Amino acid sequence: MKTEATIVGAGPTGLLAAETISKKGYNVAVFEEHKRVGYPVHCAGMISVEGFKRLGVEPDPLFHQNTVYGGRVYSNDGSCLTIKDNKPRAYIIDRGSFDKHLADRAVDAGVDICLGSRVEEIVLKQGVASSLKIDSSDVKSEVFIDAEGAKGRLLARSGIDTGQQGVYNGFNTELCVDSIEADMVEVWFDTEIAKDFFVWVIPISENRVRCGLGTSESNGATKLKKFVKKRFNKDSNTIHSGLICTGGPVNQTVYPGLMLVGDVAGQVKPTTAGGVVIGGLCGKIAGETTVKALESGNVQLLDEYDSAWRAKYGSELQTMLFLRSILNRMDNDRMNRIFSAFIEEGLEDKFTRLVEDGDMDMQADVIKRAVSDPVILGALAKSAGRIALSEILSVFRF
Ligand SMILES: Cc1cc2nc3c(=O)[nH]c(=O)nc-3n(C[C@H](O)[C@H](O)[C@H](O)COP(=O)(O)OP(=O)(O)OC[C@H]3O[C@@H](n4cnc5c(N)ncnc54)[C@H](O)[C@@H]3O)c2cc1C
Repeated sequence: MKTEATIVGAGPTGLLAAETISKKGYNVAVFEEHKRVGYPVHCAGMISVEGFKRLGVEPDPLFHQNTVYGGRVYSNDGSCLTIKDNKPRAYIIDRGSFDKHLADRAVDAGVDICLGSRVEEIVLKQGVASSLKIDSSDVKSEVFIDAEGAKGRLLARSGIDTGQQGVYNGFNTELCVDSIEADMVEVWFDTEIAKDFFVWVIPISENRVRCGLGTSESNGATKLKKFVKKRFNKDSNTIHSGLICTGGPVNQTVYPGLMLVGDVAGQVKPTTAGGVVIGGLCGKIAGETTVKALESGNVQLLDEYDSAWRAKYGSELQTMLFLRSILNRMDNDRMNRIFSAFIEEGLEDKFTRLVEDGDMDMQADVIKRAVSDPVILGALAKSAGRIALSEILSVFRF
C-alpha cells in the first residue's frame, strides 16, 4: 500500500491531523514509539469546554472525569483570589483514554496506526523530507508530519534545530484527600517551588486530586513532594514527569515535504502550557493543507501551513508569551504585594467578570482588557511600583 501522508507520533495533534487527511480518502500511516496510545500519561488533563467544541470532540464518559467552574489562585503567603463562573469552564479528563478515543476515531476514518515503531530519523535529500528510518526500513511518503512532542529530539537527530525555548519539566501525581472543592482548581504561584511556572491542584472528585507543577529548575519532583506534604499532609504517590512548553511557537514550522505540529512546533499556550486545543487545531490545519497539496499534486502548497496557523493563533500565542515573560520576572515578594492589593481593592468580582467573558484558549483579549483596565493598573502601580508597571506596559507596547 502506498502511503500519501505519514505522521510521527500518536499524540492528539498527530491523530487529529491523520483523521483530517484520511477522511478525504488518502492513505495515512501514524508511527508511534510506545506500544499503547496515550500511555505513559504526563498531562494534568484539563481542557476547556470551548476547546472541546473547537476540536469537534464530545466529552465522552470514557475519558471525562470531572467538570470545573473556576479556581482559587494563591500567592506564596496564602493570599487567595477566587474566580468562579456560573457555567462549566473546563473538563477534567483521563488523557490516556482521551488519546485512545482520538486514535479510535482516526482508525475508523481509515488511518493505519503502527505502535511500537520508533522513527529513528527523518531522511532529508537535498533538504527535502524523503523517508522515515524505522528499524532497518525506509518508509516513503509524499507528505510527512512531525508530531513527536516537545523538544524535537527526532528533528535534532535529523539535522533540524528548531531553537525551541522555554521547555521545562512538568510533574504530576494523583492522591486521595480528605475533601476538596470538586468544582474548583487551585493554582499556586511560588517561585521557591515552581520557578517560572506554577503549581496546580485539579479535582478529579471530592476526594481525589491530580497535583503537579512546572519548573525551570531541575528538582521539581522533590518540590512537588514538599508541596503535597504541606498542602495535604500526605506523601506523594508515583510522580510522572514530562516536558512543558512555555516559550511560544518556533520560528519555522514547514520544511520541504515536512510540517511540524503540536508541542514540537511550540503551538502551546505559554501561560498554562496547555497544548491539546491549539496544537490539535493546528494539527487539523496541517491535515487540511496536506489534502490541498495532495489534491493539486503540488507538495509546495505545504508552505501555506505556516502562515495559515499563524494567521489564526499567532498573535494569541504572542500575547500569552508577553504575559508569561512578565510572570517569570515576578519574585514571591512582588507577587504577594500584587495579590494583597488586588484583594484590598476588591478586584475579585472584576476578574470573575473578565474570566466569564473571556476564553480559556484564546486569552489575548482578556489579557489586553486586564492590562488596560484603570482600576487593575492602579492596584498594580500601588503594589508592584510605577517602574514595574511601566515595564509591564512596555511589554504590551501600550
Ligand atoms: C505535566 C504536564 C501537564 C500538562 N497538562 C496539560 C493540560 O492540563 N491541558 C493541556 O491542554 N495540555 C497539558 N499539557 C501539555 C500537553 O500534554 C501537550 O501540549 C500535548 O500532549 C501535545 O500533543 P502532541 O501531539 O504535540 O505531543 P504528545 O502528546 O507529546 O505526543 C507525541 C507522541 O509522539 C511519540 N513520539 C515521540 N518521538 C517519536 C519517535 N521518534 N517515533 C515515534 N513516536 C514518537 C510520543 O511517544 C508521543 O506519543 C501538559 C503537559 C505536561 C508535561
